[in-house]
Amino acid sequence: MPLFDLSGRVALVTGGNGGIGLGMARGLAACGARVIIAGRDAAKNSAAVAELGGDAAAIGADMLAPGAAETLLAEVQAIAGRLDILVNNAGTNIRKRPELVTDEEWATVLDTNLTSVMRLTRAAYPALKASGRGRIINIGSMLSLFGVPFSPAYGASKGAIVQYTKSLAAAWAVDGITANAILPGWIDTALTRRARVDVPTLHDSVLARTPAKRWGDPSDFAGIAAFLASDAAAFVTGAAIPVDGGFSTLG
Ligand code: NDP
Repeated sequence: MPLFDLSGRVALVTGGNGGIGLGMARGLAACGARVIIAGRDAAKNSAAVAELGGDAAAIGADMLAPGAAETLLAEVQAIAGRLDILVNNAGTNIRKRPELVTDEEWATVLDTNLTSVMRLTRAAYPALKASGRGRIINIGSMLSLFGVPFSPAYGASKGAIVQYTKSLAAAWAVDGITANAILPGWIDTALTRRARVDVPTLHDSVLARTPAKRWGDPSDFAGIAAFLASDAAAFVTGAAIPVDGGFSTLG
């Protein structure tokens, strides 16, 4: 369907080598986009590119390295010569009660989930503007909305990403760029497999609270990414959209 056709468009998905990022990469590729993933783990990068097939490509990148944003954008331009869709998905968490968080742990989480997103988005602006229909998709969390006792740095970063997304939407709509955030519920990925070890009650409490009565799967993110990247979503900007099986509907 032309409304959802991404042929000729180039998407960069940070952390696209697994989990939710790969789920979104699959959706974008299925609609015809050329997908470039960026991640640190070379083996995961290769496996994801092999699975995505076609003209997919991977770039080895640590978003915390000095100059990472500019280097990554230059590599995207060298590979594809343009960028239309930026998916800021790479993220991390360090679970600690607020009184125990060190400066270093705080910086690692904030730099990965927020500051590196700002740097990459800032570096991508000229290419997204040149696209004429640039798309930015940022990844928030249920912790953009709620608090839990064990993730203060993560919650701060994911709350801020929503407000940052609104700033982008307000500033760059005039350039034909939309910026939206996806707020995943509890999704079965490497990140939450670790969380379920750290917080033994988590698995059952998520199942009990989620109206859909299941954990989410990375495949649940293919459609929302494709939609937000497409012409169908040209007038959708500044939104923060839960994809959570109804988790956030309950008080
Ligand atoms: P994963 O651990 O599977 O994915 C995290 C991704 O981020 C990996 O691809 C990883 O790449 C990449 N990454 C982390 N740090 C860096 C870095 N410094 N430089 C480059 N890449 C990096 O977890 P999810 O798929 O669950 O997480 C994806 C996003 O979704 C995150 O932003 C997370 O906060 C968010 N989210 C997840 C939820 C869930 O329930 N799973 C709920 C709410 C939000 P590599 O392995 O190569 O290092």
